[in-house]
Amino acid sequence: MIAPTDICLVGAILLSQPHFRTGSRRKKTSLMPAICVFCGSRPGNNPGFLAAAEELGDWISANNWTLVYGGGSTGMMGQIADTVLDTGGQIIGVITTQLAQPDLMHHQVRDMRIVSNMHERKALMHQLADVYVTLPGALGTMEEFFEAATWAQLNIHSRPVAILNTDGVYNPLVKLLDSMVDADFLASGCRRRIEVFDTPGELTQWLQNLPVRDSPPPSSH
Ligand code: AMP
Repeated sequence: MIAPTDICLVGAILLSQPHFRTGSRRKKTSLMPAICVFCGSRPGNNPGFLAAAEELGDWISANNWTLVYGGGSTGMMGQIADTVLDTGGQIIGVITTQLAQPDLMHHQVRDMRIVSNMHERKALMHQLADVYVTLPGALGTMEEFFEAATWAQLNIHSRPVAILNTDGVYNPLVKLLDSMVDADFLASGCRRRIEVFDTPGELTQWLQNLPVRDSPPPSSH
């Protein structure tokens, strides 16, 4: 029988397989690794939150990656999308018909994929993603983060999962994860696969050195 710890190990081994390559060997002209960002639809009350979204957006464009996100125009989502657009980067928005309203959906994102429900939305985001990054946010952000982390644990995917803990906003979450390990509900190997960074600089340094899929994200056509 495969123990949960072994499942995480299998995931780590998969990451070293030939269809992944390291960032340093990436051919920037042909490859557009996709970073799936989960973040709040509100801006939060600390200017550091929006600044973090801006810094990550700048990095995505400068490094020729593709932002995959929830397609919103507000809060943290709007900030990261605006930054990537302003700096000439690539974006794929994935939004449901319910959320595709004039005041919620980002209308400058040209590759906006409108799907019928949340299940389809997350399935498409998973299909497009090479790595998952969670910025500050609330319930929707947590739901998306926990799905990505849980699916890594179950080896449904082998992509890296990271949290940006701006100003300690996710300290209680980190503590919860650690207490799950202490209580022996969560395998320590699975916990270690969730990277936690305090600053956008530490996050982007980690992104720079990731193994990424050796192909562009699937197109909508
Ligand atoms: P929350 O953290 O509760 O603000 O939810 C943010 C997450 O839920 C995002 O990553 C989106 O996937 C989704 N979401 C919530 N509100 C919106 C919105 N207005 N437009 C698009 N996606 C949204």
